[in-house]
Amino acid sequence: MNHLIQISDCHIGDSELSMGVNSHQNLTNIIKQISTVKSDALLISGDLAHNGTVKSYEILKHILTPIQSDIFILSGNHDDANNLSTVFNKNLFNQFSLGVWEVISVDSVQVDKTSGYLTRQALIELDKRLKNSNAKYNLVVLHHPIVPMNSNWDDSLSLENPKDLFEVLVKYPKIQAVLFGHAHEAAEFSQDNIRIISCPSTALQFNNESRIGFNHYTLHDNGQLDYDTQWL
Ligand SMILES: [Zn+2]
Repeated sequence: MNHLIQISDCHIGDSELSMGVNSHQNLTNIIKQISTVKSDALLISGDLAHNGTVKSYEILKHILTPIQSDIFILSGNHDDANNLSTVFNKNLFNQFSLGVWEVISVDSVQVDKTSGYLTRQALIELDKRLKNSNAKYNLVVLHHPIVPMNSNWDDSLSLENPKDLFEVLVKYPKIQAVLFGHAHEAAEFSQDNIRIISCPSTALQFNNESRIGFNHYTLHDNGQLDYDTQWL
């Protein structure tokens, strides 16, 4: 059995305030809570920074200091890919293993656009990684939502071509869930028999949820996936 923590959309800026909240303090509080939870890896699913500056990534790195486990990062629309890799080069990932599970990322970010898109090349690479994965079970993670959120979220800001993604996903029944952030909302969906999980923001939610939170997944050796959203 392995434990995975997912946080998302930290929106760390050069100063403490982002989107009207103290995103530095909020993430600090989340990290303090995570330090008390059993975890083998921490996954951060994009929008680590609000404006993508090197300084904001350095502040983030400092806030993450208490984390003992490995940290795996993918980029969001608010991130600057170059600056992110300057500070977090070792943490950017295509895939990583947790026991009999493997987590595979796919990059949905478009330059200067809020919505996401999976290029033909990104889809081919995802397909290849899933085909070559020796793990018994897979999780797929990207930044953008792949289903309508059924909330006040503007779905036109989500992934623009989810159909192309599902064409790949349905070929691999060992995918136990798809994880994303971006919508700043905790939710779960199912489509084509695939479990789909939206991770809340550590800064603020876009729905009427006033708390901040993170997802804690338990990955069982028989393929069962349990999780809970922990709120502060
Ligand atoms: Zn985003």
